[in-house]
Amino acid sequence: MKKILLTFVFIGLCGIAANAQLGKIKLDKAVDAASKGVKSFTISDAEIIAYTNEYMQWMDEHNPLCKTTDTDKGIKAVADRLAKIASAIPADLVKELHLNVLAYYVVDVNAFACANGDVRVFAALMDLMTDDQILAVIGHEIGHVVSKDSKDAFVAALRISALKDAAGAIGGNTATALTDSQLGDLAEALGNAQFSQKQESAADAYGYEFLKRCGKDPVNMATSLGVLLSLQEEAGAAENSKFNKLFSSHPDLKKRIDALNKKSK
Ligand SMILES: [Zn+2]
Repeated sequence: MKKILLTFVFIGLCGIAANAQLGKIKLDKAVDAASKGVKSFTISDAEIIAYTNEYMQWMDEHNPLCKTTDTDKGIKAVADRLAKIASAIPADLVKELHLNVLAYYVVDVNAFACANGDVRVFAALMDLMTDDQILAVIGHEIGHVVSKDSKDAFVAALRISALKDAAGAIGGNTATALTDSQLGDLAEALGNAQFSQKQESAADAYGYEFLKRCGKDPVNMATSLGVLLSLQEEAGAAENSKFNKLFSSHPDLKKRIDALNKKSK
C-alpha cells in the first residue's frame, strides 16, 4: 500500500504537484492580485534557484521520497525503476539543467518539475504507465522548466507569499530563509497556479522531441496523455471523485493528443 497521508498535504501545500503537471491551469488571476500589491517585487535568478532549492528540500522532507537504498522492497523497486528510466536522458541535458529525477511514494497520479532541475514523479502515475510513457511525462515537465513556465509560476507564488507577509520579507538581497508559514503560502499559491493550453502544448512538443533525443519513440508522448485521458473518462461520472477533481481542469487532453498525433504523421 502506498502512503496516502500526504495526499492532503499535496492538495494544500504542494500545488504544483496537485495541478501543474499535465493539465491546463491558469496563473493570471493570482499574478494580477499579487502584482497589484507588490509592485516593487524583484528577484534575481540566483535567488529564485535558492528559494526553489529550499522549497524542494522541504518537499522532499515532507513526502515519502523513494530511494534505491530503501529497505522496503516496494519503495526500492519504484526508485530503481525510475532511475533506470531516467538513465535514458542524455548526460549533457542532465548536466545543463541540473536534472534530478526522483519519485514520491504516494497515490496521486502526478508529476512536476522545478526551475532548479528537480523532477518528481508520483508512484501511482508510474503504476499506470510504461517506462517510455513515464519518460514522456518527465520530458513534458522538463519542457515547462526549459520554457521558464516553472520559474514564472514559482515567482508568482513567491509574490503572493510576499504579499501575505506583512514584512514582505521575500526578495531583496538577503539570504533565503523561508519560514514554515511562507512555505505553506508558497505551496498554496502553487496549488492555484495554472498553465495555459499554449504552455501545455509547448511542453508536449518539447516532450516529443525529448523522447527522440533519448532514443525513444516519440509516440509515447501522446500515449501517456492517452492514459490520463482514460482516467479522466473513467472518473467522468463521479462528480466528486479525486480523479475528476484532478482532471476537471484538463479539458484539452484530447486536443493535445490530436496535435501530437498529427506531428508523427
Ligand atoms: Zn504541463
